[in-house]
Amino acid sequence: MRTILIGPPGAGKGTQAKIICEKYGIPQISTGDMLREHKRNKTPLGLEAAKAMDAGLLVPDAVVIGMVEERLKAPDAQQGFLFDGFPRTVPQAESLEASLKRLELKLDGVVLIDNVPDDLIVERICGRRTDKTTGQIYHIKYNPPPLGADLDHRADDKEETVRKRLTEYHAQTAALIPFYESRGLLRRVHGVGEMSAITEQMLAALQAK
Ligand code: AMP
Repeated sequence: MRTILIGPPGAGKGTQAKIICEKYGIPQISTGDMLREHKRNKTPLGLEAAKAMDAGLLVPDAVVIGMVEERLKAPDAQQGFLFDGFPRTVPQAESLEASLKRLELKLDGVVLIDNVPDDLIVERICGRRTDKTTGQIYHIKYNPPPLGADLDHRADDKEETVRKRLTEYHAQTAALIPFYESRGLLRRVHGVGEMSAITEQMLAALQAK
């Protein structure tokens, strides 16, 4: 299975990605997670990306594309993958298309988590917490973490930054919808409702080729 999840920040991509990857036994390639790791380790790439990330802006295409090309060479990506948060611009999508063509690989489908209103996204993201040990994502109101969990609140999950990330999504990432639609790869799922119902729609979308 080679697939991509598209959707605004806070649409549930990370949560759904984990479930799908476990089911299909494929790695979740989250450029956001990779960039945060570079940032934590203060690598040259991390230092370059940090400014854009903290401001809720997209990291330059060349930085992200180079990082993904390397990641695609890893042994675990040879049997399939799920991209979560990549591509986020048309140049990134074009670059991925060229890389996959070189490797003689095809995407099975691209799933769009759709119809999540911006105000709901802000509420979801501002309450989001991640367990530092397990990576499990919680929401302080809708999916409370267990007592005593060691939690992380992402620096870019503040309302002002979330609004900027949404603006970036509408300005740059939404262009991927017609891009993949024109290639016959796009599948839409309705992103509001019970998490399990969304997972079900996603699994059905991935099986419908
Ligand atoms: P995420 O965890 O996917 O919400 O990503 C967090 C931040 O990392 C984004 O707001 C961007 O600053 C940066 N980022 C992650 N993926 C990409 C990408 N594909 N292109 C550009 N910037 C990215």
